[in-house]
Amino acid sequence: MLFYSTRGYRERVFSEEAIISGLAKDGGLFVPEKFPNIAHRLEELSFLTYEALAYEIIKLFFNEFSDDEIKDCVNSAYTGRFKVQVNNNFLELYHGPTSAFKDAALLFLPQIMKKAKEKTNFKNDICILTATSGDTGKAALEGFKDIKGFKIIVFYPKDGVSEIQEAQMRTQKGENTYVVAIDGNFDDAQNGVKAIFSDGGFKQYLDDRGVSISSANSINIGRLIPQIVYYFYGYFRLVSSGSIAMGERINIVVPTGNFGNILAAYYGKRMGLPINKFVCASNENNVLTDFINTGIYDKRRELKLTESPSMDILVSSNLERLLFELSNRDSNLIKELMDELNKNGFYKINEAMKKNMKDFYGGFATEDEVKKAIKSVYEDKNYLIDTHTAVAYSVYQKYRKATGDDSKYLIASTASPFKFVRSILKAVDGNKFENEYKESNDFKLLEVLGDITKNKVPKGLASLENLEIRHNNLCNKQNMEEIVTLLLKVGD
Ligand SMILES: *Cc1c(COP(=O)(O)O)cnc(C)c1O
Repeated sequence: MLFYSTRGYRERVFSEEAIISGLAKDGGLFVPEKFPNIAHRLEELSFLTYEALAYEIIKLFFNEFSDDEIKDCVNSAYTGRFKVQVNNNFLELYHGPTSAFKDAALLFLPQIMKKAKEKTNFKNDICILTATSGDTGKAALEGFKDIKGFKIIVFYPKDGVSEIQEAQMRTQKGENTYVVAIDGNFDDAQNGVKAIFSDGGFKQYLDDRGVSISSANSINIGRLIPQIVYYFYGYFRLVSSGSIAMGERINIVVPTGNFGNILAAYYGKRMGLPINKFVCASNENNVLTDFINTGIYDKRRELKLTESPSMDILVSSNLERLLFELSNRDSNLIKELMDELNKNGFYKINEAMKKNMKDFYGGFATEDEVKKAIKSVYEDKNYLIDTHTAVAYSVYQKYRKATGDDSKYLIASTASPFKFVRSILKAVDGNKFENEYKESNDFKLLEVLGDITKNKVPKGLASLENLEIRHNNLCNKQNMEEIVTLLLKVGD
């Protein structure tokens, strides 16, 4: 299997190079040359464990790796660390070390990166640099922890993540993990990391000292492919519980930020998974809703901070891969669109592409609708959902009302409600929250939410308060290169 760049049809590389480099040389994203079709194998695959299914699907794309290598990656990533469950129509993707769905991708990526490094005889240590608004950083730390030949430095905005998220990062174990609080907001952290990546002189300096820098962000194809697995797995659970017949088409509903998760579902359909509609759910940052409805992608607006922070995003990078498919793989056109977005802040797709997008429905939920969704699902079904999942649930109610479509469906449930405990308590019982709990810290609130709802606090979160703080780095946003030099011990 070869991988192409979305912006230059001629660049073709094997998976190990695509995984190591992350981004293509022309700035495009890597896409598989074709989608292996497994429609005829659905029955046989439906009986597999999550790990066995992951092996079957991932090896079709990364076939320069031996069967044993893929098996090894899958087992090291997932066995005893991550599982997927279907509860009613919710595809729960958060049963992993960090209690959010990014574990599915970020537990696997380091394993395959390590093998890719060996295969390409890449001698330098690789240092992963990531800016995070909360979820990605912790999941990446957990994934790269103690992986030989790798180090990871995560930058987060000092006052821009929740108490739980900060504790998750600052207590991170591992001899190769570093966490730095930035005196600034998320944009400062992200711009700082981008500046490091575009500083050729600094990269050369590190290179001369045996370190190459790389990123773990969601455009890496090694992160995207493993996300296809859970859509098949979820579909098979609906079959085995008798909710649907094998082959019946279902709708997939995804709370969307960078467009990676929903794109994985689309890749699944291209491989033969029976999907009817993709419901792309946004919060009040509804750039994607507008795009799906009008064909115009326009980022020229204010970013709003919402209670579903992992979806507070104006440029959804992985959308570029969908555009590539919608244009029948016209890389020149994609390059033009991306240049327009950079230059003018917007682009418009042509009618043919718009027609090819007909399987996508876009909608958004307001902050108030999110709160109401959490409360009503809890009261009606005695089931707790987090704020991101509530965005998806709320949008799906609107979709059904608008279309009358009563297909069976799966809603991607992307985080444990305990991870966003303050928002959840506010939504479930606002008055009580104001009067009794508002002043308590997040750790106390975990207990409260557990007690009220009779749900068990996820182990990783329950133990947080008592873990040793291992990371105390604080840095000015102008000094990020210096702290990298210091932490990597490559100063002169
Ligand atoms: C990252 C994230 C999302 C958005 O997923 P994308 O793949 O970026 O679209 C949704 N919910 C949670 C909890 C997340 O961490």
